[in-house]
Amino acid sequence: MKTLEAIRHPGKNKYDHIKESACQANKQLPELGLVLFTFGNVSAADREQGVFAIKPSGIPYSELSPEKMVIVDFDGKTVEGKLRPSSDTKTHAVLYRHWPGIGGIAHTHSTYATAWAQALLDIPILGTTHADHNTVDIPCAPPMDDEMVRGDYEHETGFQIINCLKDRNLRYEEIEMILVGNHAPFTWGSTCGKAVYNSAVLESIAQMAWLTRQIRPDVPRLKDALIKKHFERKHGPDSYYGQKEGE
Ligand SMILES: [Zn+2]
Repeated sequence: MKTLEAIRHPGKNKYDHIKESACQANKQLPELGLVLFTFGNVSAADREQGVFAIKPSGIPYSELSPEKMVIVDFDGKTVEGKLRPSSDTKTHAVLYRHWPGIGGIAHTHSTYATAWAQALLDIPILGTTHADHNTVDIPCAPPMDDEMVRGDYEHETGFQIINCLKDRNLRYEEIEMILVGNHAPFTWGSTCGKAVYNSAVLESIAQMAWLTRQIRPDVPRLKDALIKKHFERKHGPDSYYGQKEGE
């Protein structure tokens, strides 16, 4: 039976909007220098329909089109699409299921952020670029224990992320990026575009922190007054960065 939407808009599919935005966001990853070959993936959720659109597994970014995106529900089951979804799909599904406020997720193996993840270290807050986006060090989730690795690996990666924020008393609305120890970063946001933006910001912060530590290994953490000032300039109720509407 045809849905009302299909009768109203013949040829239009009820998932078109997330397929298009997910495709566009995925194509941004190589453009921003965040991925090689087929590494990485972005998804875009439609909360009302309880689904997300994600990159198909192993397809080069240059060959992506909205029709090739795979539609998956929040349990990780494919709802629509001929291709197999990204191998990280279950991680995305777990995050969407537990974090009702997010609309997009990005995963890359960008070089500098991944180097910190492999070193099993948080990225320390050393400057105002970091403070413009986050008030804390970027957390590195501890590596999975062997039982989790042998189990449902991608599903457990989702819990590795969720539990790390819980352990540190951080809310997903406060910090939209994390390093998964031994693996690589995941970022999220209200839209898939914001998730990709966060991946690019994270890579830049990771590179700057590494260089800073090379120049001065004992560099102190950014002082609290500057952390507060910079974060609130962009995010607080009295933020004044950028243009006001109508200006
Ligand atoms: Zn990965």
